[in-house]
Amino acid sequence: MICDILVIGAGPAGLTAALHAASAGAKTAILAKGIGTTHWAAGWVDILGYWPPGSPQPVRDPRAAVGALASALPGHPYARAGLRALDEALLAFQRAATAEGIPYAGSLDRNLLATTPSGSRRPTCLVPHAMLEGTRVAAGRTLIVGIGGLRDFYGAYIAANLRAQGCEADRAIVEVPAIRARNPQTTATLAAMLEDRPVRDELIRAVIPVARGFDRIGFPAVLGMNRHREVVDEVGKALGSAVFEIPTLPPSVPGIRLFEALRRRLAALGVRVIIGSEVVQRFAEGNRLLGIGSEAAARTQRQTAGAFILATGGILGGGIVAGADGAVREAALGLPVHAPVARGAWFSPQALAHQGHPIFQSGVLVNERMQPVGPRGDVAFRNVYAAGAVLAGADEWREKSHEGVALATGYRAAQAATERTRPAAQADAEASR
Ligand SMILES: Cc1cc2nc3c(=O)[nH]c(=O)nc-3n(C[C@H](O)[C@H](O)[C@H](O)COP(=O)(O)OP(=O)(O)OC[C@H]3O[C@@H](n4cnc5c(N)ncnc54)[C@H](O)[C@@H]3O)c2cc1C
Repeated sequence: MICDILVIGAGPAGLTAALHAASAGAKTAILAKGIGTTHWAAGWVDILGYWPPGSPQPVRDPRAAVGALASALPGHPYARAGLRALDEALLAFQRAATAEGIPYAGSLDRNLLATTPSGSRRPTCLVPHAMLEGTRVAAGRTLIVGIGGLRDFYGAYIAANLRAQGCEADRAIVEVPAIRARNPQTTATLAAMLEDRPVRDELIRAVIPVARGFDRIGFPAVLGMNRHREVVDEVGKALGSAVFEIPTLPPSVPGIRLFEALRRRLAALGVRVIIGSEVVQRFAEGNRLLGIGSEAAARTQRQTAGAFILATGGILGGGIVAGADGAVREAALGLPVHAPVARGAWFSPQALAHQGHPIFQSGVLVNERMQPVGPRGDVAFRNVYAAGAVLAGADEWREKSHEGVALATGYRAAQAATERTRPAAQADAEASR
């Protein structure tokens, strides 16, 4: 495979980078060991949920808070990518998701409080439209509906936790024989089943008697996969009340919908996406990366490109590996890694400590062009860029900044990489305009 830009990783950062590189006219491909964290996460776009560090109060205005964070922490990925990249990446994301039939609600000016699978209300910036009503549970009466036979969704627990936060909430479990009979093993299977009209009608008939008197009905996030909008609209119309989805334990149907939507978008732009191929080798000449070796089923294949964007995720995604010997490594290209503390201090004594766990801030340091740099600021490879959780300096779990960091840095890395690979003639033509 020969392309202008090869993106390594198919999580939110890699998908974003590929989208912008291809939109800018670069011949782009994605190579990934597996699918990214979309299939585990809620399908929301977190920008900044908590700031300053340790604050128990959710951020209300993410734009202002990201500005404050970038001033306080110049090494943070948001400071490296810049607020403008975040703004533009979010707008482009919303445009792409809307075009593919899963519009997102929200804006960078105000966080929403979305209902989680445990019934807490968590700050996030953008949610799929079908989850918007779940941000309004503080007013009116909410019913949480569980479906008999569906594991991993706890309506009673969600309703009890909402009540503990002062919301008026109750729950019901409905029995739907067509669903029981087919015994769906995962939420993804159930979501596909609910695209069958007879199954959907049976669910609606079961919910009507328990739905009276409620302002909104919350379902597990299984209301359709490819025809999700149609399923949500029909269920809402039939019940005569607002309907919303609550994320479930993995696999995440909203995350799968998002991944597939972005994949369709990439296909329309001619981007080849190869999943199931791990990068295990690099071929370099001086400070230029010539190619990588990737392992597929039978053999190692060499792939070359003009530029590479590394978006392989952090400690939990496998892009950064921390060994028992105390060494922290970047797994795909062997880039220099910044680990803030020695092994003995990787973890805080308490799992849910407010100060987080220092090991999660390990990763690749980059300059403003998202080029990985060594401890003295020297660029590792002039045609390599990095984005997402592989970067050092963010504590995404504690900050609730995962997708925001992925989008902003993926966008900025693609911008820098396409400036580099853009044919000289085109650059000259633009300059003379
Ligand atoms: C289990 C889990 C649950 C999560 N749940 C939530 C949640 O509920 N809410 C939330 O906000 N965030 C959650 N996150 C975090 C969040 O979704 C991501 O960490 C974040 O968005 C980073 O995205 P990324 O694109 O940088 O990396 P990832 O999404 O981790 O993508 C990394 C990609 O790189 C590929 N890759 C890795 N190494 C190689 C290699 N050597 N060669 C080729 N490809 C490689 C992987 O296969 C994958 O495609 C969760 C993360 C995990 C791991």
